[in-house]
Amino acid sequence: MLKTLNNYKPSGRVNPVAPLFLAVGLLLTLALSFLYAYLIENNPFIYLSLLIFAGFVIGLAMITIFTVSFGKIRNVTVGIIIGLLTGLTALYVSWAVMLPAIVGDMVNTRQLLTSPDQMWHLINFISRAGWYSIFGVEIHGFLLWLIWGLEALGIVLVPIYSGYDRVKSHLFCENCKTWSVEENNFLCFYYPDKPLLLDQLQRGDLSFFQQANAIELPPEKNFYALDIEKCENCKNIFTLALVENEKDKDDFIKQLIIKGLLIDKTLYEQLREKQPLFPAVSINN
Ligand SMILES: [Zn+2]
Repeated sequence: MLKTLNNYKPSGRVNPVAPLFLAVGLLLTLALSFLYAYLIENNPFIYLSLLIFAGFVIGLAMITIFTVSFGKIRNVTVGIIIGLLTGLTALYVSWAVMLPAIVGDMVNTRQLLTSPDQMWHLINFISRAGWYSIFGVEIHGFLLWLIWGLEALGIVLVPIYSGYDRVKSHLFCENCKTWSVEENNFLCFYYPDKPLLLDQLQRGDLSFFQQANAIELPPEKNFYALDIEKCENCKNIFTLALVENEKDKDDFIKQLIIKGLLIDKTLYEQLREKQPLFPAVSINN
């Protein structure tokens, strides 16, 4: 009898040299925060600030992923803490750089970096005095705090999520001490009965392929793709994911239905044998 396949769970281990990569990550965060504050200060168009902010947050997510990947973090809590440290560093440093530009020569960045009290005092002062205006409306008080609060949430939460997700959803081979590689669109096919597909796939039963159809190009309707992650070194550990590609006008929207199902080498080989029948479909989206 086929039983339900297990889901991949990170081992909880951390590479001993991880603190070194954390230090590198935080230095990169420091540099990026200086750049962010400089661009925000010198940007004459308040609306462009949103784009600069988006770039900053994406950069912080990339730094977190860098730290987790090179630090070989397989512990979800540690992944979250790395994201938190990255976010808090970014928030603090960007304020320390920005404030002197607003209040003039009263204080400099070096002082603020070592004095949270003084920083807090200045932030309160600016919230009363107001900072800038949007559509001719002077922004201060509650509205300014709201904007700052949302900005702070983005700067802290995005790296936290990135750290969590990088650990949780990427296969790590404990034998070879290495991350797996992804083979997306390993198999692509049409299938009429989604519940049956899910049920069989979760038990490692491939008989659903008898009713699956290959995809004519370009695809005309919703189709499924199986993604694989595997250890490229020992080729002994694999996970399987199921993606539904939903047709939306000229595009397809990917929906991850199942992720991280552990499969053995035999099942992987059986899937590979089906590749000539259900080849990968690449779509632009
Ligand atoms: Zn391996």
